[in-house]
Amino acid sequence: MSRTVLILLGAPGAGKGTQAVRLAQTLGLPHISTGDLFRANLAGGTDLGDRARSFMDQGELVPDELVLEMLFDRVSQEDCLAGYLLDGFPRTTAQAVALEARLENLVPTVIDIQVPDSDIEERIVGRRMCKDCGAIYHLTFSAPAQEGTCNACSGPLYQRKDDTAAVVRTRLEEYHQKTAPLISFYSERGGVSAVDGRLKPDLVFEACIASIQGSNQGSGHGVNN
Ligand code: AMP
Repeated sequence: MSRTVLILLGAPGAGKGTQAVRLAQTLGLPHISTGDLFRANLAGGTDLGDRARSFMDQGELVPDELVLEMLFDRVSQEDCLAGYLLDGFPRTTAQAVALEARLENLVPTVIDIQVPDSDIEERIVGRRMCKDCGAIYHLTFSAPAQEGTCNACSGPLYQRKDDTAAVVRTRLEEYHQKTAPLISFYSERGGVSAVDGRLKPDLVFEACIASIQGSNQGSGHGVNN
């Protein structure tokens, strides 16, 4: 059985989460978001959540050892046997090296969703999430039909604590310093497909699918609709 590991790179607010949900569904892969895993630990009051909290609140990256333990535990589960989609991981070279060792000969498919820094603050500060199902909205660009209410499940919408103008600056600095170097890291291995994240979400999705099909040509991995 061929195994696919898909990695979405991109700055905070580039649209990784929105695309990850759709791509995971279309490709039949579990969507693994380290940010979501940390938020679930925070909400559940776990020891891991307590250790991650201050880093997350300040927009800093959580230390690699905490992230790696949590992520590897998650991808060891049975639903990840045939592959998985990573959203928000890896974010440092140490994380990428650890993943590479774990994947052995498997070369991940890597997509970089590109959005200029000048657009990021507006995208993040206007972002709202559904408390119940995690659906992502934007007050201007993809507003819910009814203010404060999720279209999909009628759950209440909220603003993430780190989605503020003050925290965005630190998150962007962390991204440029620690995560952006992964574009070269993966370019030197299996390659990276760049997708313009300023396009409408449907077009970003189509571009992602096209680049996955391009990178899987000959590998036998199909895209199921
Ligand atoms: P996200 O939901 O992907 O924007 O992640 C929210 C926050 O969780 C980040 O700002 C970090 O504090 C933390 N986090 C998520 N994924 C990672 C990761 N791979 N490495 C370090 N910190 C992470």
